[in-house]
Parts: sequence; structure tokens; C-alpha cells
Amino acid sequence: MGLEKRGTELLRGLPAVHRLLDHPHCRQLAATHGQKLLSAAAGEVIGEVRARILQGETVVETDLDLLADRVAERVQRQFEMNYRAVVNATGVVLHTNLGRAPLAEVAVAAIERTARGYNNVELNLQTGERGSRYEHVEQLICELTGAEAALVVNNNAAAVLLVLTELAKGKSVIISRGQMVEIGGSFRVSEVMKASGAHLVEVGTTNKTHEYDYERAIDDDTALILRVHTSNFRLVGFTHQPELSDLVALAHARNVPVYEDLGSGTLFDLRAHGIGDEPTVRETVRAGVDVCSFSGDKLLGATQAGIIVGKQEYIKRIKKNQLTRALRVDKLTLAALEATLRLYLDEDRAKRDIPTLWMMLRTEESMSPEAERLRAGLAAVFGDQAEVAVEPGLSQVGGGSLPTEELPTWHVTVRSRQFSLNRLEQALRQVTLPVLTTMRKEAIHFDVRTIFPREIDQVVASVRDAFARLG
Ligand SMILES: *Cc1c(COP(=O)(O)O)cnc(C)c1O
Repeated sequence: MGLEKRGTELLRGLPAVHRLLDHPHCRQLAATHGQKLLSAAAGEVIGEVRARILQGETVVETDLDLLADRVAERVQRQFEMNYRAVVNATGVVLHTNLGRAPLAEVAVAAIERTARGYNNVELNLQTGERGSRYEHVEQLICELTGAEAALVVNNNAAAVLLVLTELAKGKSVIISRGQMVEIGGSFRVSEVMKASGAHLVEVGTTNKTHEYDYERAIDDDTALILRVHTSNFRLVGFTHQPELSDLVALAHARNVPVYEDLGSGTLFDLRAHGIGDEPTVRETVRAGVDVCSFSGDKLLGATQAGIIVGKQEYIKRIKKNQLTRALRVDKLTLAALEATLRLYLDEDRAKRDIPTLWMMLRTEESMSPEAERLRAGLAAVFGDQAEVAVEPGLSQVGGGSLPTEELPTWHVTVRSRQFSLNRLEQALRQVTLPVLTTMRKEAIHFDVRTIFPREIDQVVASVRDAFARLG
């Protein structure tokens, strides 16, 4: 049969759109997704097959059932979320690419309640008059940090921009060269400073800055002394920075306020549990800083937010700045933040109910049963195709917090000579519930610390899916 003739035959065999839509599979989908969407998808599927036939392809599928399946796939794909839940098996507790802090159940419930109906975000229920969205959490933050006043904005980068704009626009800000940091993708102290309209005055050297460096730099133009937490790196060896209380005393003697960008900022004393050397926000406030800011979704374990605390006179000014409106925190964030902050009123609840704290404090002993469950589940999936073992490993806090801290953990490892581990790792990112792992020394590592116990069976199911895809 000539090619042309075969083409004509194929075209003739192609069902009309209305016949495809009449297929039981399509009719069923139309009941949920609407006729309009189905018609469009059916038209596209048939249009594509026709185009292939016209280009001379002779092996095309014109079977009604198969075409209906293709329409179904197309429609379902339109409703599949790109942005979805994943399992974090990397062992990095605050993984910025994976959304930093998973929330406490009470915070999730607060978001749900707030999202579903109306709320008093800007209404004072006592007076019936317009209220401020900041009031819901201000007193609570003050109680937890010892500060006089507080304000919450979109994130800590916004907090830094706002504080510098209000307190130092057109004036100069003194900062140690050892604190001129870059955090994450695009947050550079020097750039934020430029954006705020403040002039940067760098003092000291990369490794050492003394009190007298600050003292000599203060002049009539000085609006602020800024201290920035060197979140994601540590300077070790021959180094010096003045004690915060000494710097505050010096600044105040010259009528200059001190602002500390704490980065992570913790309300919980992790040092008491042998983790890191981070002072609590309360200690920073007590040392006398005038303003300090920190993230909501780093060590605090809540949602993305920038929390600004400090002396009333400065916070009052910051609240009135026009930028505050542009950087304002949203109602769902406020709900989750308030619910999480309330947990800190009772440290035992905080340790138990705030997932990131709970994860950081998990011991090897307490993680053993989950490590064994995961090992057994994965061993059953792979059979004799791979070796599955439990090995000691080290987790990280992440999110630019406590960069040198290593937390002893269990890794469930998978090694194989039968199939490509790289392909398995890729497939694990493409299943319905993706699992993020690390590849090290010819093995895939699943760090148990950041996997919720409720997720162990789901991880096994995802691995089974991914393994099946390798074919
Ligand atoms: C993380 C960090 C920021 C940025 O905070 P976001 O809440 O991520 O915007 C700013 N400064 C320091 C020191 C940080 O560690």
C-alpha cells in the first residue's frame, strides 16, 4: 500500500471529537471537570494525531479507548500541582529549598481556620473599631523576648531593609568588615544597605574588629551601628569582635542606637541541649540593643516572617514607615506565627510540638526504631537487587543556622551493582510523593532525622514506585 493511501486510511479511521467525548471515560471526566475543558483536550489530542498522519507518520494510534486515555491524562495533568509536598530525607532540618520549617499542628490548624472564613485581622473586637494586625502577636513576642515593642513583616530580609530605611536613610551605618555577609541566593548586606539609602561605613578587618574601630568611626552623620550575624559561616582562629554589651555602652555614650540582625534568632536555649552557641533573643535584648530582627522560619520553627523587636521609640517609628505597608505580613502567616509562639510559653510543649525543635533534639536512640522500619521496608522493595543498611551519619541544622553544628543520626543506605543509583535518585524526585535524598560514596542516603515517623511507610511506597520506573 502506498504511503499516501495509508495516510488517507488513517485519517478516515480517526474518530470525530464528539465521538471521543462520548466515550464513557471522557463522559465521566466531564462530570467533574466540565464539558469545556474536555472538549478542548479531545480537540487537541485528535489534532495532534492528525498532524502526525499528515506529516507522513504511519504508526499512530487511532483506537478510541487509547485516545480517551490520552484525553484523561491531559485533563488530569492540568489539575496536578507543580508545587507539592515532598519528604525531606536529606537530614538538613531547615532546608531553604524545601520550605524551611514544617509547622506545628496547632499552627496548621490556625492557618486552616483563618483561611476558611473571616477573621479579626484588622479589627479590635473589644471596641469594634479598626485594629492593627500587629497587635495580635506583639504582646506575646514581648513576653517571650523581654522587648518593649515588636512588629512582624514579610521576612527578615524585609526587616533589615525596613529598619535601615527608617533609622538610617541618607545617613551612615557602621558595620564590621567581618560581618559583610551574603546569605542565601541574593541577600547581601552591602546591597540591602544601598537599597535602603543608608551609607555604609566599614570598620575593622575581616578577622578582627575592636571597640576602638567603632569609636573612631562615629561622627555626626552616624545613624546606626549594625551588627549582622554571620549565619552561614564561622570565622575561627585569630579573631575578635567586641562584646555586645560593650558595643552598646559605647554607642549609647555617643547617642547612637545599635541594631542587630540576628538571622536565625532562637527563643529556645539550644545550648542547654548541647547544640550550638547561639544566644537567645532575650539575651540579645537584655544586652541593650535598640532594635533586633530575626526570621520566623529558621530556628523559631514557624512561617516565613521577619520579627523586629526593640525599644518602643524605634519600633513606633518603624511601624509608621510607608514601607511597612508594602512588606506587611499576611493573615495566614500571622495565624501560624501566633499559634507557634504560644507553644514557647511552655518549653516542654515547644520541644515536643514544634517539628524543627523536635527534629534537632532527636537522639540516635529515639530514632533507632524508625531507622530499622525504613531499612526493613526498603530491603523488601529491593530484594536481592540492592544492599540496604543502617549506618551512623551526621545531620545539619541548615537554613544558615549553626553551620558547623553536626547532629549524630542514622542513615539508611542503599547500594547496588544491579541498577543505577543516580537514576533511582532522579526517579525518587518524580514520583507522586517525591523523596529528597543525598548521594554519597556510591550509596543513596536516607537520613532518618528529618523524616517524620508518619512518613516512613510513604517513603517505602515512593521508593517502590521509583524503582518500578527504572524498568
Ligand atoms: C537568613 C538571614 C536573613 C534573611 O532572612 P529571611 O527571613 O530568609 O529573609 C538576613 N540576615 C541574616 C543574618 C540571616 O541569617
